Amino acid sequence: MKSIVVKNPDELVIEDRPLPAPAAGEVRVRIKLAGICGSDSHIYRGHNPFAQYPRVIGHEFFGVIDAIGEGVDSLRLGQRVSVDPVISCGHCYPCSVGKPNVCTSLVVLGVHRDGGFSEYAVVPAKNAFAIPDNLADHHAVMVEPFTIAANVTGQVNPGKNDIALVYGAGPMGLTTVQVLKGVYKVRQVIVVDRIDERLAMAQKSGADTVINNREHSLAARLIEEGIQPTLIVDAACHPSILQEAISLASPAARIVIMGFSSEPTEIIQQGITGKEISIFSSRLNANKFPLVIDWLTQGLIDPDKLITHTFDYQQVADAIEVFEKDQRQCCKVLLTFPS
Ligand SMILES: [Zn+2]
Ligand SMILES: [Zn+2]
Repeated sequence: MKSIVVKNPDELVIEDRPLPAPAAGEVRVRIKLAGICGSDSHIYRGHNPFAQYPRVIGHEFFGVIDAIGEGVDSLRLGQRVSVDPVISCGHCYPCSVGKPNVCTSLVVLGVHRDGGFSEYAVVPAKNAFAIPDNLADHHAVMVEPFTIAANVTGQVNPGKNDIALVYGAGPMGLTTVQVLKGVYKVRQVIVVDRIDERLAMAQKSGADTVINNREHSLAARLIEEGIQPTLIVDAACHPSILQEAISLASPAARIVIMGFSSEPTEIIQQGITGKEISIFSSRLNANKFPLVIDWLTQGLIDPDKLITHTFDYQQVADAIEVFEKDQRQCCKVLLTFPS
């Protein structure tokens, strides 16, 4: 089988590998579609501190089960599945409180273990979620990116009275906008970004108000309009954002951060305690695949608004380059595998 392998930072090859056999409790998935994410590009460029090399990258993937290991129900053969990349132990403290995404022995497909940019991938059977017949392949491959938004929103229980501010109109920000509007029906969603084309995508995904903070001061605009956001999501992940969010937030607001910066961030405690703000963080997803599959089935979210490019997997290097460089036109890039 052909696999897309990052052998070392900046060294990506398509390699012939032996077809893997599923072990007990595992299934083999014949991949049909995979999505390119920021973390794939970070592993490729050597910017992911968790990555080990060589690695088959890819953690957003969809396909059909074509072989099963011992102990797996034979009815699963031929099933269309999306794969949750989060593999957890099931018994440590975080697992016991419903946070397998921060399991003490966390393994992420495509990061710590070979992932889905391959003609076939072997994964735990319980990580392969059945996709209903009426969900299209190109929607099924988008389950994982929406689980990121499901995890973010799951921390803060959004409501119809919320005024949400989302920093960043990349894939994480846009999936979050769709979930806030489509699922939770929050009153207003404001999106701030530095690229107009991205802000247009945010409007397409349901944003009520968009602000370009390259041209205008976000703080000045919100103060002018008398807006104090009650829910703030930092999907832009710049270390300077948290303090700005604290100062713009309404009393009793919730803030969710997703960044992985190792730079120190200066924040003023008084701004948090004075308004009793709650600060949450969100990483990967905690068992959100069934929820997102349900949202897709109900038509509450629409992946078509995010998919801008599709490439044959053999063009993966070009595809990643488009993803990295063309921030004006490009949002989600899919790779197709031969079926
Ligand atoms: Zn991703
Ligand atoms: Zn665990």
